[in-house]
Amino acid sequence: MENATDYIAKVYKKVEQRDPNQVEFLQAVKEFFDTIEPVIARHPKLIEENILERIVEPERIFQFRVPWTDDQGNVQVNRAFRVQFSSAIGPYKGGLRFHPSVNQSIVKFLGFEQIFKNSLTGLPIGGGKGGSDFNPKGKSDFEVMRFCQSFMTELQKYIGPDVDVPAGDIGVGGREIGYLFGQYKKLNGFGAGVLTGKPIPMGGSLARTEATGYGLVYFTDEMLKDAGKSFAGEKVVVSGSGNVAIYAIEKVHQLGGTVIACSDSNGYILDLDGIKVDTVKRLKEVERKRISEYVTEHPTATYVEGSVWELEEEFQIALPSATQNEISGATAEKLVKQGVYAVAEGANMPSDLDAIKVYQTNKVLYGPAKAANAGGVAVSALEMSQNSIRLSWTFEEVDSRLKDIMTDIYVQCRDVAKEYGAEGDFVTGANIAGFLKVSEAMLSQGVL
Ligand code: NDP
Repeated sequence: MENATDYIAKVYKKVEQRDPNQVEFLQAVKEFFDTIEPVIARHPKLIEENILERIVEPERIFQFRVPWTDDQGNVQVNRAFRVQFSSAIGPYKGGLRFHPSVNQSIVKFLGFEQIFKNSLTGLPIGGGKGGSDFNPKGKSDFEVMRFCQSFMTELQKYIGPDVDVPAGDIGVGGREIGYLFGQYKKLNGFGAGVLTGKPIPMGGSLARTEATGYGLVYFTDEMLKDAGKSFAGEKVVVSGSGNVAIYAIEKVHQLGGTVIACSDSNGYILDLDGIKVDTVKRLKEVERKRISEYVTEHPTATYVEGSVWELEEEFQIALPSATQNEISGATAEKLVKQGVYAVAEGANMPSDLDAIKVYQTNKVLYGPAKAANAGGVAVSALEMSQNSIRLSWTFEEVDSRLKDIMTDIYVQCRDVAKEYGAEGDFVTGANIAGFLKVSEAMLSQGVL
């Protein structure tokens, strides 16, 4: 039988040959494959049963047309996807992204990472992801509603509480989930368990809105504590100003850190006294305005066009929470020079492979996305539990479970990394810990 290194290289080559243009997907697979040699070497059955080649191939992918009518009466057509990646440990679970950049590569990279993230939560959920190249920005509520209705008219054929349970992601928040749920209900009757991130009156969970951002900070706090550090007194930069970023900022401030900057896709705001999160919440969640508006209310803050990672101030902790590949190797080098000693990812794959190398070379504490941002899907799974037992837990109860789950994820990453000879490398820890459970389930289910 071939050795682990040759087996991993062979499978990666095949993935590359099959989908040479899916750059984001290949990046996610490479990051994963770069870390799992020790586990493959220790368990020859994984090679015998060709687990890697099976795990990188989605169980199925749907692509569909979404026609809808804009406010001027023009018929518009978008393209949509749902990738049902792995049901080894539970029904497919993962968000929907509405953003013009969405394509099959992006949905596959997100779905692939979701498999291991969901496994790390310790909850029985498989991996999936979906979305559309629809851009909700600048659309009226009625346009978003008509799009969501058309999208769900097709998607509802493939999902269900025990089959596939979508949630939100970039461009899909409470408003979109409400419309999607309404259309599902019209076609199938009330089925609370079919979507998560629902508004509270229709079976949503308290603390789901906060979960990814809060969870990110809980994870980071554990990582800092083990290194003898804490958020107290530290300057923090958070990219993005959406769902994840807002609640990360809120929790950092509760733990005594100061978030000095956050951003949107046009530019960033710098407020050395600390970002006023209530202003950001209102601007983004209620008024749906650009982050540049912040400075009209807080004139001592400044707005700068461009990426937030271009700022020159010194700070210690970076929480990228906008999108994939926002931090390159060169940017990571710059962050280290600015004093950054910890990076934890709210967004999925915000650091490219070169940036990860820079963190590792410079001993930056690094919490990879599939561990650090798992709080959202964890509370989504808690929402599914509440829907099943027809009970609602209090905010404090859900938040406390979230904190326990994030602590447990951190401990798994730390301990598994150590067990496999990579102490302090939480990428290896997260990948191996997530993979062990999924691969064990796959082996016990036979060749499927
Ligand atoms: P939102 O749509 O609420 O916010 C996204 C934020 O990121 C906005 O400020 C947006 O700016 C910015 N952004 C999006 N695309 C780009 C881009 N190409 N360049 C620069 N900025 C960009 O999304 P979420 O907060 O939900 O998601 C943010 C990240 O967190 C994503 O990577 C997502 O996959 C990940 N994530 C989200 C979870 C959740 O529960 N929501 C769970 C786990 C991970 P603008 O408004 O200008 O577009």
